[in-house]
Amino acid sequence: MLKCAHLNLRDDPLPKRIIHWATRWFRRTKKITKTSRDVIARPDHTVSRDAISQNALKVMYRLKDAGYAAFLVGGGVRDILLGRQPKDFDVATDAHPEAIRELFRNSRIIGRRFRLVHVFYDGEIIEVSTFRANATEPTTRTQTQIHAETGMIFRDNTYGTVEEDAWRRDFTVNALYYNIADFSLVDYTRGLTDLKHRLIRIIGDPVQRYHEDPVRLLRAIRFAAKLDFTLEKETEIALKALPHLLQHVPTSRLFDECLKLFFEGNAFATYQKLLHYHYLGALFPQTLQVLHLHKNKVHEKLIHLAMKATDERLRADNSVNPAFLLAVLLWPVLQQELTKMKNKKVKFYLRLHQLMSDIIHRQVEAMMIPKRLQFAIQAIWVLQFQLQKRRQSRILNVFHHRYFRAAFDFMGLRVQANEISSTEYEWWRQLQLMDTEKQEAMIAEL
Ligand code: ATP
Ligand code: MG
Repeated sequence: MLKCAHLNLRDDPLPKRIIHWATRWFRRTKKITKTSRDVIARPDHTVSRDAISQNALKVMYRLKDAGYAAFLVGGGVRDILLGRQPKDFDVATDAHPEAIRELFRNSRIIGRRFRLVHVFYDGEIIEVSTFRANATEPTTRTQTQIHAETGMIFRDNTYGTVEEDAWRRDFTVNALYYNIADFSLVDYTRGLTDLKHRLIRIIGDPVQRYHEDPVRLLRAIRFAAKLDFTLEKETEIALKALPHLLQHVPTSRLFDECLKLFFEGNAFATYQKLLHYHYLGALFPQTLQVLHLHKNKVHEKLIHLAMKATDERLRADNSVNPAFLLAVLLWPVLQQELTKMKNKKVKFYLRLHQLMSDIIHRQVEAMMIPKRLQFAIQAIWVLQFQLQKRRQSRILNVFHHRYFRAAFDFMGLRVQANEISSTEYEWWRQLQLMDTEKQEAMIAEL
């Protein structure tokens, strides 16, 4: 049974409800009709096949030759129109998953929330999804849609027309369709106008659409940061009011989204926006608390430096280990906890391990972190103390530790942020430049 969005507002305070109703009324009076669409013929737009990956083209042509509709959609179209290199290519079609699966031997049906098909090529996956209708639209179709009390959609396999598919997407700039049949561009939601004005506008009623899938809140922030776009007013008003909705999102999905927020080359800009819109707390509640409580410039600087370093590494095509940035984000929390334990007559490393595991435990309640990363984060933390101590008997163990390089870089950021002096860091830097004989001499001198 479908639930109306307004029923989901019970948790929200009265002023927010009033804003919501006013917004709905206003929208109703000036609504973009769902029957209108703009078709821009090939000579009048800039999406060229040269900018589309060969594999995506292959997928679309094969669907078309089999008698199906096939469109490039999502970030692929949006980024080409902006003159950017798309991260990946998404294809939308009227073929059902099983039919797509039959057309491509190199494919697999994935997804529970909604089923789609991944077509595998060497080094590239083309995601092919069947047109779907928005689950909140009244529909006579047979598939199930389940709403929880929160208005969230748990399963969303109601197939629809291309037009319905456009209206169930998240933002107008993500709902532009490039038709492989005639190379035209189809715009149902005035995405092209928003693209021109550099606006992220959620499709439909903002409060309802965020309730349906609260991850859209983080996606709005992510796209605004990545594209340097502004959030359209209603999209922004609702977003500011709804950070608590993220509590209803599985913590593993928050982790997936966190990777996209910080490891696609726009970590610094995204972090600033997360802070600005009060969303950092939804992902890292302990970090936010310490940052707020202490307003410690060193902590802030350390996080800024790590975000910028992550962006630079990605720009230079270097690998990044998420554990590094996660270790930085939670470092202020560890520091804070350590100051509390001063004077306690407990062995330092014993206590440190207890504190680390408590911090990680509380963190994964808000946002999941896979075990292997938890391990790496703790290793990077422990190494900070060992790098500073430089106990003669431990030097080689530390030096050959799997996470030495990450821990050393981490230490470098702490120096830059003026948290510690550079003496020990310089020593370790020198050690790496020496041959074995000189290294032994350095260690003997300690
Ligand atoms: P990029 O790949 O550059 O991060 P994208 O816009 O392609 O951006 P994807 O996560 O690849 O984003 O999703 C592809 C498309 O699927 C989106 O452009 C959007 O139209 C639709 N989509 C993805 N997630 C959602 C969602 N939570 N709600 C509604 N539509 C979504
Ligand atoms: Mg994409």
